[in-house]
Amino acid sequence: MSILIINIKELIQVRENNVTIVKGPDMKTLPTIKNAYLIIEHDTIVEYGPMSDYVDYQAEEVIDAKGKMVLPAWCDSHTHIVYAGDRSQEFVDRINGLSYEEIAERGGGILNSAEVLQNTSEEDLYQQSLKRLNRVMQLGTGAVEIKSGYGLTVEAELKMLRVIKRLKKESLATIKTTLLAAHAVPKEFKDNKKGFVDLVVAEMIPEVAQSKLADYIDVFCEKGYFDLEDTERILTAGKEYGLIPKIHVNQFNAFGGVALAVKHKALSVDHLEEMRAEDIEALKNSTTMPVALPSCSYFLSIPYSPARQIIDAGLPLALATDYNPGSTPSGNMNFVVSTACIKLRMTPEEAMNAATINGAYAMGISNQYGSICRGKKANLIITKEIESYNNLPYAFGDNLIDKVIISGKVLD
Ligand SMILES: [Zn+2]
Repeated sequence: MSILIINIKELIQVRENNVTIVKGPDMKTLPTIKNAYLIIEHDTIVEYGPMSDYVDYQAEEVIDAKGKMVLPAWCDSHTHIVYAGDRSQEFVDRINGLSYEEIAERGGGILNSAEVLQNTSEEDLYQQSLKRLNRVMQLGTGAVEIKSGYGLTVEAELKMLRVIKRLKKESLATIKTTLLAAHAVPKEFKDNKKGFVDLVVAEMIPEVAQSKLADYIDVFCEKGYFDLEDTERILTAGKEYGLIPKIHVNQFNAFGGVALAVKHKALSVDHLEEMRAEDIEALKNSTTMPVALPSCSYFLSIPYSPARQIIDAGLPLALATDYNPGSTPSGNMNFVVSTACIKLRMTPEEAMNAATINGAYAMGISNQYGSICRGKKANLIITKEIESYNNLPYAFGDNLIDKVIISGKVLD
C-alpha cells in the first residue's frame, strides 16, 4: 500500500535528523515546509519535500491536500482509557456542591471505578475501551499510553492489562502499557496501607512482569495515597523486573516526589500542578520528561502546571490528556493543545512540540513517532482548510481535522 499526499499547504514538524526530544528555547521552533508533498509506503514515511522537488510517483492512493496542513498524529503519553462505566453522577454531585471527601464517603472516586471494573467481564471492558480508543484516534491520536490502576487486586489488574494487550493487537494505534499498581488503597487495606504495598511488591509486580503485560511502573505519589517511602519501594521493585518508572506526582502537593523519580531514572513525571524551585532543579541534567495534563486542571478547577517556569528553565515538556473517568473524561488532544496555549501560556509551537515529539519521548518511542522524518511511522493528521497552524489551538473546541492516517492507513 502506498499513499501520495500532494499540494500540502504546510507540512508541520519536519525534522531532517531524527530528533527525539525538544527542550527549553528550542520548543519555540516548529520546522515546516510550505507547499509540500509526502509519500507513505506501508506504514512508513519514505519521502517528502517541497512540491518544486516532486518527481512523478505512482501511488495506489493520491490525496490532494490543497489548503490543508499535515502534521504528525498526537502522541498521548498518559491515559487511563481502560475503565468500566463512568462517573458522570459524581460530576453532577460535585456541581451540586458535594466535596471529593463526601463523594468518597459515599463510595465514589477511584474505589468506585475499581468496584465497577471488578464486576465487569473482560469482553465488556474491552468493548467499552475499544470505543474510546477509536474515538481518540478519530481526534488525531496515533500513539497512546494506557495505565492499569482501576483493578486494585492482582486478578483485576491482570484483567485490565490483558485488555490493553488485546487493544494493542487489534488496533492500528501504537500502545504502551503501564502498571499503575498503587493508584489508591483498596477498602480491604484501609488501615493497612503497608500490607497493600507488600502485595504490590511481592505479587502484583512479579506476576505482571513475568506475563510481559507492562512496559512501565507507575505510582500515585500524593498525600493520602502513597508517600515517598511507598513510592521508592514500588519503583525499586518494578525496576528489578525491568519496568521503567513513569509516575503521578505533584498534583496537589509537592514533597520530593520529582527528585525521587529522577533518582530512579523515571521516563516521565506527570501532573506537576504544584512545582517548587527544587523540583525544577531536580529535573535539570536528567533524562526525565515533565508532563502536563491541562484537561485535568480544567475539569477539577485546580492550578495548571507552570509550563513557562519549566520551559524557561531550559527543560522539555510534554502534554497528555490523562483520559480517565474521574478527573478527565476526555481524550481530546486538540483540546489539550488549545488549553496549553490559553492557560499554560505556551506558544502554538511549544504546544505542538509537547504533544508530538515530546509526547513520543514520554512513551519511549520518539525514535519512530512524533515528527515528519524519513523512516518514521506514518501517523499523520490532515487538517481541514485553515489559514495557519495557529488556528489549531486558537479555534478551541472546534474539530479542524479532515483525515487521520495511522500506521499508513486512512481511518474511515
Ligand atoms: Zn493519571
